[in-house]
Amino acid sequence: MAVDRLGGYHDEGLETLPWDEKRGFLERRLQRAVLIAFHRAPAMREKLQAARVDPGQIRRLEDLEQVPITPKSSLAKLQAARPPFGGLLAVDPSELRRVYVSPGAIYDPEGRQPDFWRLQGVFYNAGFRPGDRILNTFSYHLTPGGLMCDEALTGIGCTVVPGGVGNADSQLQLLAQLQLNGYVGVPSFLLALIERAEQSGKAFRRDFNMEIAVTAGELLTAQVRQTFKERHGILVRQFYATADLGAIAYECPEERGMHFADHRIVEVLDPATGKHLQPGEPGEVVVTLLDNPVYPLIRFGTGDLSAYDDAPCPCGRTSPRLTRLLGRVDQAAKVRGMFIHPSQVVEVAAQFSEIQIAQAIVEREGNRDRLTFRVAVDPTVSREGLAAKLQEKIRSVMKLRAEVAFAIKEEFQEAEKRVLDLRRWE
Ligand SMILES: [Zn+2]
Repeated sequence: MAVDRLGGYHDEGLETLPWDEKRGFLERRLQRAVLIAFHRAPAMREKLQAARVDPGQIRRLEDLEQVPITPKSSLAKLQAARPPFGGLLAVDPSELRRVYVSPGAIYDPEGRQPDFWRLQGVFYNAGFRPGDRILNTFSYHLTPGGLMCDEALTGIGCTVVPGGVGNADSQLQLLAQLQLNGYVGVPSFLLALIERAEQSGKAFRRDFNMEIAVTAGELLTAQVRQTFKERHGILVRQFYATADLGAIAYECPEERGMHFADHRIVEVLDPATGKHLQPGEPGEVVVTLLDNPVYPLIRFGTGDLSAYDDAPCPCGRTSPRLTRLLGRVDQAAKVRGMFIHPSQVVEVAAQFSEIQIAQAIVEREGNRDRLTFRVAVDPTVSREGLAAKLQEKIRSVMKLRAEVAFAIKEEFQEAEKRVLDLRRWE
């Protein structure tokens, strides 16, 4: 019998709670979370005191604006100054179940609470059900990806094969022999596994049993999703989590962006002014954990760029959605009020097989930004038709008009940036 991956909620009461009531729920949790952070995490107390914020006054979602942001980029420094957790830990270290190490030698604490990272709801809502047999290809060493997903999946009642990173041939073999029907990891590694299988004469859809892949960590274009679905019979859903925060957002069956995970407050802020943005406007994702008495991060700046949509979702869940992740804030450039990001340049270029390299160049002419999309193509390629199609694609992906400039591959230097900002601000 086919499993119903599209219906049902992990926590119906909370996920479908009308927004007015959910707001009240979040605000009650917020008051508690701020008090825990203030009384037990010395770095948070100092931060609030320095900003002259009385923790008892943080009662409404709007009040959060008074709380200074703790950027992810400041963690390494904070931890070096006050090892190992920078004064952000709210318990004695003996109460930790594990300590992970993220790139940049950042320590990530994990408490002993069940479903500490709040990923069970994420995986259930993305479509995993008890009895699914899943290959988990996130790393099990040092970084939390592998274990945080593993425990959430086994918590749901799935069976997990801890594949970890790499070793494609063995992973492919066990996918077939154990007839695994689920995959967790980056989408490109699943594609690589499929290609390998097909190179050895197998038809992935016929010879394997893969039904659903839940992915994170990479851009998933609509086209790649479509290929998975139509050619290989695999449903792909995305989620967004980090090593510090755990779950942040997840896709529901509607595939219209990623719902904010419950038990978190997710904000999208203008990185320059720190002000809240309107739906559709890209800005930095800032997250507050509401139920983490171990590592009570209040307004943690992820450095990730996204935008949100608060229009009702037909799935019935009431939390807003992140439309998609655009990349890192510090790699983006703001052009005529819109962010452009290296990932968008890659996305546009990927639509055209003729394009060998692409780069977006931002310049200032008078008081106007000028955007040029510079591409390398083979000299034999007809440029006229390509330029028009390219401009149309740029408008749809970047929401900006751009001029197109052609070059040959040799004119690009290897390490050249995808977004080259030539504006000088005096
Ligand atoms: Zn939905």
